[in-house]
Amino acid sequence: MNTMPTDGLNETTASPDNSPSNFIRDIIIQDIQNGKNGGRVHTRFPPEPNGYLHIGHAKSICLNFGLAKEFGGKCNLRFDDTNPSKEETEYVDSIINDVRWLGFDWEDRLFYASDYFEQLFQWAVQLIKQGQAYVCDLTADQVRETRGTTTEPGTESPYRNRSVEENLDLFLRMRAGEFPDGSRTLRSKIDMASPNFNMRDPVMYRILRAEHHRTGNDWLIYPMYDYTHGECDSIEGITHSICTLEFEDHRPLYDWYVENLGIHRPQQIEFDRLNLTNTMLSKRKLLLLVQKGYVSGWDDPRMPTLSGIRRRGYTPEAIRNFCGSIGVSKTNGTIEFQLLEHHIREDLNRRAARVMAVIDPIKVVIDNYPEGQVELLEAANHPDNPEMGTRQIEFSKVIYIERDDFREVPPPKYYRLFPGQEVRLRYAYFIKCVSVEKDENGEITVVHCTYDPASRGGNSPDGRKVKSTIHWVSAEHAITFEARLYESLLLEDAPQSDDIATQLNPNSLIVKANAKIEPSVKGAAPNTHYQFERVGYFNVDLDSTSDKLVCNRTVQLKDTWAKIDKKSK
Ligand code: ATP
Ligand code: MG
Repeated sequence: MNTMPTDGLNETTASPDNSPSNFIRDIIIQDIQNGKNGGRVHTRFPPEPNGYLHIGHAKSICLNFGLAKEFGGKCNLRFDDTNPSKEETEYVDSIINDVRWLGFDWEDRLFYASDYFEQLFQWAVQLIKQGQAYVCDLTADQVRETRGTTTEPGTESPYRNRSVEENLDLFLRMRAGEFPDGSRTLRSKIDMASPNFNMRDPVMYRILRAEHHRTGNDWLIYPMYDYTHGECDSIEGITHSICTLEFEDHRPLYDWYVENLGIHRPQQIEFDRLNLTNTMLSKRKLLLLVQKGYVSGWDDPRMPTLSGIRRRGYTPEAIRNFCGSIGVSKTNGTIEFQLLEHHIREDLNRRAARVMAVIDPIKVVIDNYPEGQVELLEAANHPDNPEMGTRQIEFSKVIYIERDDFREVPPPKYYRLFPGQEVRLRYAYFIKCVSVEKDENGEITVVHCTYDPASRGGNSPDGRKVKSTIHWVSAEHAITFEARLYESLLLEDAPQSDDIATQLNPNSLIVKANAKIEPSVKGAAPNTHYQFERVGYFNVDLDSTSDKLVCNRTVQLKDTWAKIDKKSK
């Protein structure tokens, strides 16, 4: 069913980024029609603060906040902070920042599972009193060993039939710190023969002396995720608890807790995790990259974290459009990284000002251009957005062009500069190569050309055609800058093992320290986006200072040559 309005009359019910309908949306529409939850829609995004968010999380964020927005509902931001040994305030702060940056607002509904620790404890007491939870003295290993197999039922714990009084006494003493870490657990009494492992008397609480980033040393026992999650959803009045497919087998347990506690029952709905080709999407593995120093930090522009891709120049709009375009389904698949890049390009194409920069410069001397003369030539800041204005670019006798735009001996179908060949300098003149200078190693150091003064602005004086247009900067006026060119961090698909070192792409970062750019970019703020004509989309990196400009290649261009040539003819 697609309920997207087609007549444009009912814009408010369209998805924020015009994403197509999906099965979760359809469930929500049904629920609203049936008056379930009084027609309310309330979702949440529940990250564990054990690392920085990645592009996979963006899918979940867009879905949860997007659906709430679309149906006039609410979406909470809730930290699932039940694992104190791995969680830190730094991660909490980064997650808050990232969700906001993506463009979503939880208003005053920022919550933590740890806000509910006391309530969760009281509910555990209730389950004990109902004869549905017991203190078990088996070690973690023993619990695992007695879980059974897919064909064999598990073995009941010898402590399973303790009296309610004894269980209550032991559980209170667990909380009071009378027992060492790992010596006892609180388990739900469900069914050791259940075909679903999650229902075989799952652990609810463990004894753990670890400082919690919010509750400090208040607690010596911590609830397990499965016991915590549904109750938190319930407390917050969540209607649709949207999570990834790996939780499908946990749903019966989710339901078991809220039903047996007799509290509001949200509906858990699972969707497919985002996987991207050649990209590692696991906080645990990304943490390894950071810890082992393979990247400069969580915000290294090669990282698939939101902070990494933000620093690299990806925009929230592009990420939201990407997330809208991939949809949601019930089967896991892998999306081509190129689709994400397509959305980045599309957005930057619209917004990024055009400038000329030369990444790998070679000097060109225009022999017949007057020594010492400087001309100002007009260039458009954006080919399709005249409101972005124009700027003046200095032109002079000595310029830089891209080393790759010149060949002494051109290969077949090479239409750029070579001896005897005429090309157009973007916005400037036709030039023709007349000779080259070489150093003692035979490397070309200077290309000599002549220009046609009648071709000012790059216009053909007599209708004669040139086969290509190349970019350039005036040597005297250009700013030297550092261009950081990125490729995939990984050589192949996401590594299956933790031996990440062997799978890293040695060319994932190439630094061009002697790149040249027109002076109009001077003083640009970090994260200003540009299209370097014919080269790619770049942004100003955080490492830039007033003395040194550093730019990240956000994404490469495609088909740019053909386009520029057509446009400027
Ligand atoms: P990771 O393995 O990277 O740590 P996680 O699922 O353990 O992922 P959480 O912090 O628990 O990370 O995730 C918060 C929410 O984001 C969950 O609802 C989870 O299902 C969702 N999520 C995490 N990774 C993805 C992904 N790749 N695609 C879609 N949703 C995701
Ligand atoms: Mg997790």
